[in-house]
Amino acid sequence: MSVPKPTRRQMTHLIGVALTTAPALSCQAAFALTRHKGHGQVSRKAPAVIGNATPPRPVIMLDPGHGGKDPGAIGVSGTYEKHIAAAAARELYHQIKAAGRYDVVMTRADDHFIPLEGRVDLAHRHKAQLFISMHADALHDPAVRGASVYTLSNGASDAQTASLAQTENSADRFAGPAFHGMSSEVQNILASLVHEETRRGSAHMAASVVSAFQPRIGLLHHPARHAAFVVLKSADIPSVLVEMGFMSNRHDEAALRQAAYRQQVAGAMSAAIDRYFQGAGTNIARSG
Ligand SMILES: [Zn+2]
Repeated sequence: MSVPKPTRRQMTHLIGVALTTAPALSCQAAFALTRHKGHGQVSRKAPAVIGNATPPRPVIMLDPGHGGKDPGAIGVSGTYEKHIAAAAARELYHQIKAAGRYDVVMTRADDHFIPLEGRVDLAHRHKAQLFISMHADALHDPAVRGASVYTLSNGASDAQTASLAQTENSADRFAGPAFHGMSSEVQNILASLVHEETRRGSAHMAASVVSAFQPRIGLLHHPARHAAFVVLKSADIPSVLVEMGFMSNRHDEAALRQAAYRQQVAGAMSAAIDRYFQGAGTNIARSG
């Protein structure tokens, strides 16, 4: 007797259930879910292109961090991270639109709160091929400045990134009691649900951001870092979180307040997106 394969929607739901009940799941169960979803992936293959039909443009989901009741970090001179994130994402949105090579959507176009899980859901709903979360958080050390890019992993690359992930993940405290208490065990399970292919895509995008930023935007020392960021947990959409600078540093804050600087950051991110999709054509598609 053959058992019908679950649809993509059912699997997304299943994984959602797995995540909400995650503390009760053993690592083995989480692994089984990962493999199971892998089998259901046939539907991801694009239909054959017949004649001169142009394939659909890739969809990019931009995610300005925080919003509404969650201001994000507050800069040394009082700037809210949520406003910087939204302004930079809007600039990037317009640049991508103008170039006409991709479709682009934003998780929020105005100042409202979205829980982290909701941001990932939106990316799935829009069938995004790339998810970019945009931030300008604060660090304990006000001297640290420069841009950096983060991918998901169950272990943090360094203590600074671990504490950054903890701050970012705590954004859901604004969402009410249902979202409280993301234990490190749950975060490990989140990370283990991510497909290897997605992981490679995220790493490729992070490397593209670093190379595109290098000549024009100041970077943090070791700018490509990783930790268990909940907003990057999509199992099948390569995802990165870009810290465009830090609100805790007065130079970064002053720069990010300027539209001209945000244009430069968005320009570098557009170049990174091009680099990513050019590479995706040769490396990622072949491995998928
Ligand atoms: Zn943030």
